Amino acid sequence: MRKIQMVDLKGQYEKIEKEVDQKVLEVLKSTAFINGPEVHAFQKELEEYLGVKNVIPCANGTDALQIAMMGLGLKPGDEVITADFTFAATVEVIALLGLTPVLVDVEKDTFNIDIDAIKKAITPKTKAIVPVHLYGQCANMEAVLEIAKEHNLFVIEDTAQAIGANYTFKNGSKKKAGTIGNIGTTSFFPSKNLGCYGDGGAIFTDDDDLAHIIRGMVNHGMYKRYYHDVVGVNSRLDSVQAAILRIKLPHLDTYCDARRTAAKYYNNAFKNNNNIVTPKTGNSCDFICESCDCHVFHQYTLQILNGKRNELHQHLLDSGIPNAIYYPVPLHSQKAYADERYNEADFPVTNQLKDTVISLPMHTELDEEQLAFITKTINNFVNK
Ligand SMILES: *Cc1c(COP(=O)(O)O)cnc(C)c1O
Repeated sequence: MRKIQMVDLKGQYEKIEKEVDQKVLEVLKSTAFINGPEVHAFQKELEEYLGVKNVIPCANGTDALQIAMMGLGLKPGDEVITADFTFAATVEVIALLGLTPVLVDVEKDTFNIDIDAIKKAITPKTKAIVPVHLYGQCANMEAVLEIAKEHNLFVIEDTAQAIGANYTFKNGSKKKAGTIGNIGTTSFFPSKNLGCYGDGGAIFTDDDDLAHIIRGMVNHGMYKRYYHDVVGVNSRLDSVQAAILRIKLPHLDTYCDARRTAAKYYNNAFKNNNNIVTPKTGNSCDFICESCDCHVFHQYTLQILNGKRNELHQHLLDSGIPNAIYYPVPLHSQKAYADERYNEADFPVTNQLKDTVISLPMHTELDEEQLAFITKTINNFVNK
């Protein structure tokens, strides 16, 4: 059996190696390292793939979130509601900008932001909601949009883990993750579903005025060379990364299919194990129906109900099966973000998930022999 990886970047690279190597050399020889034609071409191709009017590439997914908030004109003291159960980048930029993070609980089934918790957290100072499409599926966007409309709030979608996912509205229409709210952000960190070979990120919006503001903001607040109209940042996707992303983008749907195939195998293998909860999709289609495209399985995350999650984590490592706990500490309990405003009783789900979740190897190169070994090892251990 091939060695099992949490994310197999090498196996994926080997399949596009010739094309990537040739293209990277071309960029090197062109010396158009920054803002070259590759960046512009990638921007256009991603706009087309997502069905969004504007893509603004930037340096990473954390910058993308920060710039989105700057572009919307959020000011110190404004409250921004986001999920307690996510990677810290989401809340970090809120705090960095002097905005007030308001962390709320998530849903147990989907791991995504809880709608009732959002409603309870709204005050006259609330200016934005940041749903995080955790592990690869959209939050309940229809409900988020309704709340936002009622209270006149911006919606910023953190799509770092869900690029390529579709969201299906009740009326059957579909939109790509990140193109549903006022603005969406993503990351091209190598292990993300659409990863480059370094750092990268992007911002999406259908709002042309907002896109214009942001295009200047990523470039030192310049709308005309050496005229600085607003305080900006320097945040760019470089040409080498853009060239690699242009090669990978046409494979994104196939990559997502490969992840779903692995997820389906996992689901079937664990369906009769009462101590294991497999991931649920909260969108309007049945869980992983044949054509389901609402979950792109950035992570495949189980909940282990018998209190042996930590033992399982170690047992798998000892058996040569990489695995990870995303996330061991909810944000409201992190030193940097703890605040006396928060009440433990408001976080029953994240306080439970931190002790029950475990993410399994998930990538585009898993084979059946590996999946059989992983699932057998887990079922044997958890049933003991
Ligand atoms: C990865 C990630 C980010 C940050 O992206 P970087 O490119 O690493 O800055 C933000 N939010 C979420 C949910 C992520 O998973």
